[in-house]
Amino acid sequence: MAKSSGTYTPMMAQFLALKSQHADVLLLYRMGDFYETFFEDAKIAARELELTLTSRDGGPDGQRIPMAGIPHHALDNYLPRLIARGYRVAICEQMEDPQKAKGLVRREVVRVVTPGTLLESGMLAEKHNNYLVAVTREGDGFGLAYCDASTGEFATTELPSVASVRLELERLGAVECLLPLDLRRIDWVPAPDRHLKPRSLGVLWQDALPESIQVTPRPPEDFKPESARKALMRQFQVGSLEGFGCSNMSLATAAAGAIVTYLQDTQRAQLPLFSGLRTYHESKTMVIDGLTRKHLELTATARDGSAKGSLVHLLDRTRTPMGARRLRQWLLAPLLDPEAIVARHDAIEELLNQPSLLRAFATALEPVRDIERLTGRVAASSINGRELLALGNSLAALPAIGAVAQRCQSPLLNQLAAPPELLAHLGTLIQDTLVEAPPISTTEGGLIREGVNEQVDALRTLQRDDKTWLLNFESDERARTGIKSLKVNHTKAFGYYIEVTHANRHLVPDNYHRKQTLVNCERFITPELKSREQDIVQSEERLFRLEHSLFDDLRHQAAEQIPSLQETGQQLAVIDVLLSLAEVARDRHYVRPSVGEDERLTVQGGRHAVVENHLPVGTFVPNDALLDTSNERMMILTGPNMAGKSTYMRQLALIIILAQMGSFVPADQAHIGIVDRIFTRIGAVDDLSTGQSTFMVEMNETANLLHHATTRSFVLLDEVGRGTSTLDGLSIAWAVAEHLANAVRARAIFATHYHELTGLSTTQPSVRSYRVLVEETQDDVIFLRRVVPGGADRSYGIEVARLAGLPPSVIQRARQVLGALEKNNRLFDSLKKTLVQEVPPQKQLPLFEMSR
Ligand code: ATP
Repeated sequence: MAKSSGTYTPMMAQFLALKSQHADVLLLYRMGDFYETFFEDAKIAARELELTLTSRDGGPDGQRIPMAGIPHHALDNYLPRLIARGYRVAICEQMEDPQKAKGLVRREVVRVVTPGTLLESGMLAEKHNNYLVAVTREGDGFGLAYCDASTGEFATTELPSVASVRLELERLGAVECLLPLDLRRIDWVPAPDRHLKPRSLGVLWQDALPESIQVTPRPPEDFKPESARKALMRQFQVGSLEGFGCSNMSLATAAAGAIVTYLQDTQRAQLPLFSGLRTYHESKTMVIDGLTRKHLELTATARDGSAKGSLVHLLDRTRTPMGARRLRQWLLAPLLDPEAIVARHDAIEELLNQPSLLRAFATALEPVRDIERLTGRVAASSINGRELLALGNSLAALPAIGAVAQRCQSPLLNQLAAPPELLAHLGTLIQDTLVEAPPISTTEGGLIREGVNEQVDALRTLQRDDKTWLLNFESDERARTGIKSLKVNHTKAFGYYIEVTHANRHLVPDNYHRKQTLVNCERFITPELKSREQDIVQSEERLFRLEHSLFDDLRHQAAEQIPSLQETGQQLAVIDVLLSLAEVARDRHYVRPSVGEDERLTVQGGRHAVVENHLPVGTFVPNDALLDTSNERMMILTGPNMAGKSTYMRQLALIIILAQMGSFVPADQAHIGIVDRIFTRIGAVDDLSTGQSTFMVEMNETANLLHHATTRSFVLLDEVGRGTSTLDGLSIAWAVAEHLANAVRARAIFATHYHELTGLSTTQPSVRSYRVLVEETQDDVIFLRRVVPGGADRSYGIEVARLAGLPPSVIQRARQVLGALEKNNRLFDSLKKTLVQEVPPQKQLPLFEMSR
């Protein structure tokens, strides 16, 4: 970047001064109808947005400056592309009318747009929250705050470890993370095209942050508890943080304060209005780490990452985007408190018992739109006519929703039984004031209904008179001149004119003054038309200004209700989710599970929610399960390839998650002793991006779960030790299973083709063997999909390979090889015997592990 110098033209000097305050972002500099970029920014913009890179003068000694621009009206198209590629963009506007400015037009950066501060509905995924987080650290403790600037959600917590920070960031799917980083200590200045990646932050942060998150360095002073506290008190205009529950939590306060300061720095004119700050404690929800979420396909399929085919897609019958976002939140943070879970089950049961309630709620919710995000737009003063009307229609539905809520017993459904009257009133006021289909622009009229304001009506009458006058004027002039094709028209730039084709030029009377010559015609003005034009323009301007100010009044009235709007949005989102869960339960024959503080898991006739949906109705084979920390802690599950082992394990995990998020479950009957965390070790993939081999990834995951699982956890192991030699792998698998059963004592299912592991049920009283049944015919294997007690001793891998289409000659040869192996080497029997007889079960655990 060139240095500022007196020899730059005043405008370029202005640009450089602004740019020096925003060195690390891309600066869009407003010049008339364009946003221009200069110097390095222009090269980046040209490359990323496929713009033509031009240049202009303005540098010292006639030096030309690289430049690339976008038309101002196309900002909404280009901005998301820059943000999606990870750029942060400062928008610099002209702060005065260039025509009226004396000398150089004053310009200011009005907003810095970053991934975590988006407000525009067009740039946000409707069904996802867009979270910005701030994390701070002191010793082993962390403060983590997050907000969604588009909905006004703002929360903070303290966490005990790097691992817990990472889990929370994964749960939130946060897009941008503020960290206290002293840039002077980093050996480069972040430029718009050079992002701080977690891995470039060294050991202090890299393990805490998912690789996909964009890191924004912030001054460490912002995270000082005292300055953070002041920033929060200023934001909420309160004298203490007592009411938010974080007054004694300095790290939580620090993180939340850093968010507020960042938003003040970046949003300026459009600061989102948070109605409050929620302090939360992670111990209230089940932990589902990123890997488990992926393995269980909770929000996206493992194969291509699309939502279709995931659990959330199946559950989502919500009617509003805020309901859809809330459903995701519930799914990714199932509850631990049985009472809170039962409250959700109660609500669903009530809806199912009284279908008329469900129908009535559904009808009443029809007009409701995304109140949360619309409120965010009100708060940022950027709501347009259509959006305000959508908010009005949503609020006008409140009395009808309240009437249905009154009929409900369940507190969750009943919470809107007396909806705030002011909101319903605001809703009707908006409906009565705005026209049915308002334009996007709020400054060009056409917003206010007839009959709302006398002055608006009077000005509109004038407008109609003007139109009639113009029509009459046109026909009079045609008659007077004899030019049949004569037209009276107007453009924004040239005002009103009389248009005559060149062919009729000779018929033009003397009092026509030429205004403009075009290829086919000439445009004229007459004194009469000129004086009328002034009246027309003046009354139009008055009308537009008046309509805009009436619209602004409405917007202000809405702004006064922000806390109540946010609360109502949240309540409606909950009702929306409950309706959705009830409908799924009704249509898919789910049952109400019981939940308790015990450590049992019993399922009868359990099904895999998503797999059953892909199969023809009635063909999914239901299975039972019984696990309990005292007697039947671990299932060793064996069976042929393709038998259904993975499906069975996952279906239990999904049933637990569904139950604890408050949903009914796909089973005939289920009881869930609360699970604090689900661990999965499934499949094997190389993680080349972090330089880890398949086996290393597998062992890392296993180590993680052995260290963190508790007696209340539920552990799924789908093969352990397959990425190394048979004997090494089997030994590891045996030891891991023993450790899980004896030291961790979690409820666990271990699916494996190491049939030798079934020997564990002989040596360990809490381990049981199960297998998935198949029926062998003369030349085929029929999968029965039933899980029954006992161990399998064959995998039928060759049969499955045949089904997969391996060439017959290869299959035949494999059979020969297997036959020879089985005849000459009783490997399986001898290994199992050795394991059971010669490796005595581990009774006492090493002391340091016991004290974990
Ligand atoms: P592998 O050992 O090869 O990994 P697996 O035993 O884990 O196999 P799954 O992947 O669970 O087998 O199941 C294979 C297929 O069988 C599934 O894709 C599903 O279509 C079908 N399937 C599984 N369980 C059932 C069931 N209970 N009822 C009907 N079909 C099932």
